[in-house]
Amino acid sequence: TRKILMHVGPETIDYDILLGGIKGDVGFTSKEFVDAMSFSLKFLRKLMGVGESYQPFIIPGGGTSAMESVTSLLRKGDKVLVVSNGVFGNRWIDIFSRYPVNVKALKAKAGYYVKPEEIEEEVKKDHYTMVTMTHVETSTGVREPIAEVTKRIRDYVDLIVVDGVASVGGEEVRAEDWKIDVFLTASQKAIGTPPGAGLLVLSENATKRLGEDNIAGYYLNLKNWIGVMQSMEKGKASYFSTLPVHLILMIKKAFELIETEGIGNRIRRHEIVSSAIRKGIEALGLEIVAKTPEAYSNTVTGVMLKKVNPNDVLSMSLTEGIEFAPGVHPDLGGKYFRIGHMGWVNINDVISAIAVIERVLSKLGEPINFGEGVKAVQEYLINGI
Ligand code: PMP
Repeated sequence: TRKILMHVGPETIDYDILLGGIKGDVGFTSKEFVDAMSFSLKFLRKLMGVGESYQPFIIPGGGTSAMESVTSLLRKGDKVLVVSNGVFGNRWIDIFSRYPVNVKALKAKAGYYVKPEEIEEEVKKDHYTMVTMTHVETSTGVREPIAEVTKRIRDYVDLIVVDGVASVGGEEVRAEDWKIDVFLTASQKAIGTPPGAGLLVLSENATKRLGEDNIAGYYLNLKNWIGVMQSMEKGKASYFSTLPVHLILMIKKAFELIETEGIGNRIRRHEIVSSAIRKGIEALGLEIVAKTPEAYSNTVTGVMLKKVNPNDVLSMSLTEGIEFAPGVHPDLGGKYFRIGHMGWVNINDVISAIAVIERVLSKLGEPINFGEGVKAVQEYLINGI
């Protein structure tokens, strides 16, 4: 049967996008590919809310390759402050610990975010070359108020880097207004294409730091990629290492669809979908992992369970036609699962998701208000928006 993929990326992908990559004769120097790169690099600026002064990159890999590539902006001995709200915040610590830099981390409890004032206090105490934040922490669905943080810390640090892997395409992103130096994402999340590429933009200030003495390795050294990006944007083929040609054709198609939808409309759709999901979950009497409403995200919702095993919920939901994601935050003791709602998700998917959760939890014996979830979603969609 037809399945809805509401995991945390990839998610169900629009067929026009997949078909956009079905081309048998497109080489990496072909006009078709170079045009797709040029369009996608230009559109990436719009998606990130930045102007011409920012340098866009599309590199192989995904979220982690984009994250690791920011070592191209660091030099030996630099200090980095990691703001971590969970598993993917902690990934920055793991990355930087492989390089000759000093790392300090501020960590939030599961379900919370590190408070802007705490970050401000830390950057006033010590000089950091780079601060990294995770816009939406996928392990918990918690959103960091990055605009407020940046306002408070901008004058004290050289570079502000945001992991927008679970946000770009689903949350408002205005990297230039917010004075963020690096905003990065991956192809398989809210952009709604298959996995395989990391996408990022660098401010002028960040671009200037791509010097010979940066500490990045070879493949993810943005110094090796920048010429390719600049050349491709101008419509001229260029090579450092082979790009995922067919995926980039799909990214181009996705960007065309995003342009047609309108970025603002797309963010609004994600807001409506995520609000509807939360209405349904709350009406069932279940608790959301993100502890305060300002921490809710448009793209990921964690659902706490009182009694039943989340693995049983996931496997039974799959047989009912929807695939959700497991909980991965170690401090939440395997007591939750996650709903991914990003990319091409719509309000009818919400009805299906809440209906499946109701049936499955009821069959498994979790105490819930059976029937109230779908009703609450319907009421919200009629009266609440
Ligand atoms: N950051 C965040 C916020 C993520 O959600 C993920 C992927 N779940 C990553 C980074 C890593 O991305 P990838 O798996 O594409 O390397």
